[in-house]
Amino acid sequence: MVPYPPGRMVVALGCGGGVRLLSVSLPGPANELATRHNLGPAARKRAAEGLIATALLSAHIKGDERLSVDFQISSPASAAVYEVHGDGTLRGRFRPELLPDQDRLYGFLSVSKSWGKRELYRGIAQVNGETVEGALQRFLVESQQVNARVALVADLGADGAVEYADGCLIERLPQLDPETFATLTAPLAQNGKRVMDELALGAFGGEPVEVIGDTELQFRCGCSREKVTAMIRSLGRVEIALMIEEQGGAEVICHFCNEARRYDAIELEALRRSIPEAVGEA
Ligand SMILES: [Zn+2]
Repeated sequence: MVPYPPGRMVVALGCGGGVRLLSVSLPGPANELATRHNLGPAARKRAAEGLIATALLSAHIKGDERLSVDFQISSPASAAVYEVHGDGTLRGRFRPELLPDQDRLYGFLSVSKSWGKRELYRGIAQVNGETVEGALQRFLVESQQVNARVALVADLGADGAVEYADGCLIERLPQLDPETFATLTAPLAQNGKRVMDELALGAFGGEPVEVIGDTELQFRCGCSREKVTAMIRSLGRVEIALMIEEQGGAEVICHFCNEARRYDAIELEALRRSIPEAVGEA
């Protein structure tokens, strides 16, 4: 696969420290997700939006932490999960490949923060006829009680690839009064793209911002043949013997990156033999 350029996340302060500005730009990772999962145009756009929303929620994770967003949508029926890791890698999955072009979604979204296998936080919100942007906005206000405004835009180019996949989250800090904040963020609802383009140039509300963080976000999956081998090994001698007998091998496809790993009967047999026999097991 041709390497896709990494995305970017910038954290800045604006309005003399009155607002915290978070902006993400992810056309590269969004295209990699779409290609890996063979997504058609509508699914490609929706998956890009989900990825942007997840990145916008991930600004405060660090180290080995992981932020996941799960979309369980009943109309138009789809299921997606996106993850951003503290090391700047992200991955995701979207189903089905083909989707009707419908912006208003009905279902649930669930946001969780984890550290290894331990879940640190989980929040669930209903999506009731909203766009991904609207759902994210409501999640922030209702579940997180954050005084913030968000905008996210994903557009496809003439070739069908994701050309634009940007988002921003503008948070009011205590020294700014709510009325000024409302005035400053009003353009977001009318033309989010213009605000994001201004942020990309290092300005907000016509004034330069102070950048306090700038990180790359790269689509990368943490799976490996070693991890899959360990997983098969954990099934035990009996299960592996059955796999050899019934399927003559095994194929394991990663949920997130769609990478297939195959094991023939000889490899499985070697794996089976490497497992110490348990008491009472043939
Ligand atoms: Zn993978």
